[in-house]
Amino acid sequence: MTVASLPRIVIVGGGAGGLELASRLGATLGRRGRAYITLVDATLTHLWKPLLHEVAAGTLDSHEDAVDYLAQARWRHFAFRLGRFEGLDRKQKLVHLVPTLGGGGRVVIPARSIPYDLLVIAIGGVSNDFGIPGVREHCTFLDSREQADAFQNRLLENYLRAQTQPTPLRPEQLNVAIVGAGATGVELAAELHHVARQMVAYGFDRIVPERDVRLVIIEAAERILPVLPERIAKPALRELERLNVTLHTGKRVERVTPEGLFTHDGMHIPAEMKVWAAGIKAPDFLREIDGLETNRANQLIVRRTLQTTRDDDIFALGDCASCPRPGHERPVPPTAQAAHQQASMLVRSLTRRIMGKASLPEYVYRDYGSLVSLSEYTAIGNLMGNLTGDIRLEGWIARLLYRSLYRMHQRALFGTIRMGLITAADMLTRQTRPRTKLH
Ligand SMILES: Cc1cc2nc3c(=O)[nH]c(=O)nc-3n(C[C@H](O)[C@H](O)[C@H](O)COP(=O)(O)OP(=O)(O)OC[C@H]3O[C@@H](n4cnc5c(N)ncnc54)[C@H](O)[C@@H]3O)c2cc1C
Repeated sequence: MTVASLPRIVIVGGGAGGLELASRLGATLGRRGRAYITLVDATLTHLWKPLLHEVAAGTLDSHEDAVDYLAQARWRHFAFRLGRFEGLDRKQKLVHLVPTLGGGGRVVIPARSIPYDLLVIAIGGVSNDFGIPGVREHCTFLDSREQADAFQNRLLENYLRAQTQPTPLRPEQLNVAIVGAGATGVELAAELHHVARQMVAYGFDRIVPERDVRLVIIEAAERILPVLPERIAKPALRELERLNVTLHTGKRVERVTPEGLFTHDGMHIPAEMKVWAAGIKAPDFLREIDGLETNRANQLIVRRTLQTTRDDDIFALGDCASCPRPGHERPVPPTAQAAHQQASMLVRSLTRRIMGKASLPEYVYRDYGSLVSLSEYTAIGNLMGNLTGDIRLEGWIARLLYRSLYRMHQRALFGTIRMGLITAADMLTRQTRPRTKLH
């Protein structure tokens, strides 16, 4: 078969789910010349999203863990196209990409369209500001590597200023307010607590973390980690209290200004740095894109085969999809765990489609438990398995398992041997690097 006559599978979005899918399909169908696999992403590098709070705090250098799509495409036998997807023509089976701009706003790649036979939309989610005034202007979102890097730069600048300024520190100068006590908010608070102590060790000795750095979490629900079981939330709460993180639960943020946040009951929380981690939605342009069915959060509604409800040739996975979960009121949760499982299932489904088989497997979400990392201090969570039942974990075992989730992602991308080599290299280089990014 010539390349031109191969069935074309296009995957848009190379994140937790999309890059695993492209890599695994490339290693099988692509390598054997059974299909032409194309991955499209709006950026040139991939960073596993659950690492973003560590990038924002400076405990992880985003450059060291980023994967180049072009190199990955070569190693895993798929094609990579740089471009932002914003339009779809279902009749002509085309994905439309907007022009890619370079420095000075010049067009590097003009608008183009990519033809597909089977399409997988895997573009993830973006923070939902719920239309609250001031959020977009004054809060940092942790949706992308660029946003996490920008927050880390700002944090470092604020520490440099605080260390050297001739005037006394303003009360809100080094405070960080985090809106949302889900896993992201809780993990970020613990990471920032650790970083404040690291900074003093690296010479920022004018700063007294206990006095100058106040970390505040504001949550609309009545408790932290509202979607996780209470038996995980309780020890996490104890740990945050031990770290002196201020918690305001049952409070809705109504307005954000450069100086701080206002809650529904009139409370003012002063903070120059503010992070919004209060829920996600799919990007706005996805809403009813070329007639596909979407929900209020702009997510594409899919059947359990992960096919969209109105087009058998278009699939969606991960945070941009809403997939039913039989026996549960709510759909499959937007987690890396779900995106990974869905990608694994789609490897089988798309292979079956290419082989001309009509029936497709149906996705069943398997909850293997949840783990919340509290920086170097501890991790807390539960592990669920057929043999083990539901076990609560805390301490170094939980931390080890938390890290192993990322290793599983790397294994799906690179295979077991390379994942092992990367792990060994990470362990060695960690000994030669500062614990916090200082540039
Ligand atoms: C700070 C943080 C911590 C988290 N921690 C955990 C955790 O501990 N455990 C867990 O299970 N989940 C966690 N999550 C959630 C998890 O990261 C997501 O559920 C998961 O990444 C979703 O995978 P995805 O493939 O749907 O999308 P993503 O991983 O978000 O990838 C989307 C990809 O699409 C690309 N893209 C976006 N728009 C376009 C476009 N228009 N055109 C082209 N490309 C586009 C992006 O560049 C990106 O590469 C965390 C999330 C955050 C932000």
